[in-house]
Amino acid sequence: MVARGLPRNVPKAVARYQDRPNRGQRCGRCMHFIEPGGCEIVTGRISPQGWCRYFEAMA
Ligand code: SF4
Repeated sequence: MVARGLPRNVPKAVARYQDRPNRGQRCGRCMHFIEPGGCEIVTGRISPQGWCRYFEAMA
């Protein structure tokens, strides 16, 4: 992930984080989600039902 130059410590507002899914995309299915409530990109508590602009589907 670091090799790809992923951003880190991004505030929720900058990431346009929301606490609900976006068209079927949600944190619980994103490769950046860290169980049970974190994210390797966005700071703060992250809901598995949330979403942000950095969403990338799990492989
Ligand atoms: S959708 Fe955004 S906040 Fe949610 S896990 Fe992925 S990168 Fe983190």
